[in-house]
Amino acid sequence: MKCYICTNEINDKNETDEHIIINAIGGRLKSKKLLCSECNSDFGENADSALAKQLNSLSNMLMVSRHRGAAQPIIGDDPKTGKKYYLEVGGEPKLFKPEITKKKNGDNEEISVTARTEKELRQILSGLAKKQPKFDLDEAMKSAEWQNKKLTEPLHFQNTIGGKDVFRAVTKTAMNYYMYCGGNRSQIEYLISYIKGETEQDIVWMHYVDSLYPLAEDKCYHILYLIGNPKERILYCYVEFFSTHKYLVLLNKEYDGRDLKQEYYFDITDVKEESLKIEMNYDRKTLLGFFKDKDDKLFSRVKEAFDHSIQLGLKRQDDNRRGNILERAIQNSLGKYPEGIPITEKMRKECVDEIVKDILPYLIDRMEK
Ligand SMILES: [Zn+2]
Repeated sequence: MKCYICTNEINDKNETDEHIIINAIGGRLKSKKLLCSECNSDFGENADSALAKQLNSLSNMLMVSRHRGAAQPIIGDDPKTGKKYYLEVGGEPKLFKPEITKKKNGDNEEISVTARTEKELRQILSGLAKKQPKFDLDEAMKSAEWQNKKLTEPLHFQNTIGGKDVFRAVTKTAMNYYMYCGGNRSQIEYLISYIKGETEQDIVWMHYVDSLYPLAEDKCYHILYLIGNPKERILYCYVEFFSTHKYLVLLNKEYDGRDLKQEYYFDITDVKEESLKIEMNYDRKTLLGFFKDKDDKLFSRVKEAFDHSIQLGLKRQDDNRRGNILERAIQNSLGKYPEGIPITEKMRKECVDEIVKDILPYLIDRMEK
């Protein structure tokens, strides 16, 4: 078995899992027979990372599960104050960094600290205490007020689609899939220099087709759809991420391989393969037309697709937040008792109080929205 990029033999020493759809966005389909470890890491650092970066906010919002590596937080800003926040996976917005402000009050200097966790507050205060001999750390910790500040404006996140490096990564996804399906390297060999960034090719474009498949409110897919048509001499692959980023890749316009139709549908919310059976059979003229007269009036379709995935993302975040609130309340109340002891009336009451305390602000927040 040879690496389809560098043609070096793949053996025990350099074999590696190549994710057909990148792992950063929850890609599950993988093979050890595609790339050697050297090519895998080269592409990981270049083209793949551009795609991962572009899809990061959707991956986080939708809380996709990955084979390896933790999700990166998404950074957004509050348009009112300009302050940066980050949204943890499944979490609430948190200040991007703690804030420390100092104010002269007569002879005294007042210091106000806004920290994100108790641990962080203690760290900051210990730092201050070192410089001020009179500073009482424990007293300061006790006087800290814990408040759950709510943002009044929605956070802004930037979403982009496409771009040179992303097009290369999308092409590599399509090539991976073609080779995974038993393709012949000679059909796509000319594209290797392109995905390495050494040459330019005009073979990828955004592709939004109305009602290609029924999309339920609570669903979101990664899709690969590969067609090889020797009669029309075309080989192409439709690539969709999160039912939102949609591309068509012209893999070869002089295709002389076998008849080919391969489909892969991955349901992100249920983390399983599904069968959607889309139909997208283009003749040569139609297919080449997509790359000649590029449709640049895609905005409303792209926006519609984003609306769907962001809506779904918010719902998943909300479900997760409710779960976290309950878990935290139970931990804060019953967590301090030894495990396995019978629950007394007092414990029950503490637990209820803790839940009410945490869930009320959440409900008020929801009603305000
Ligand atoms: Zn290689």
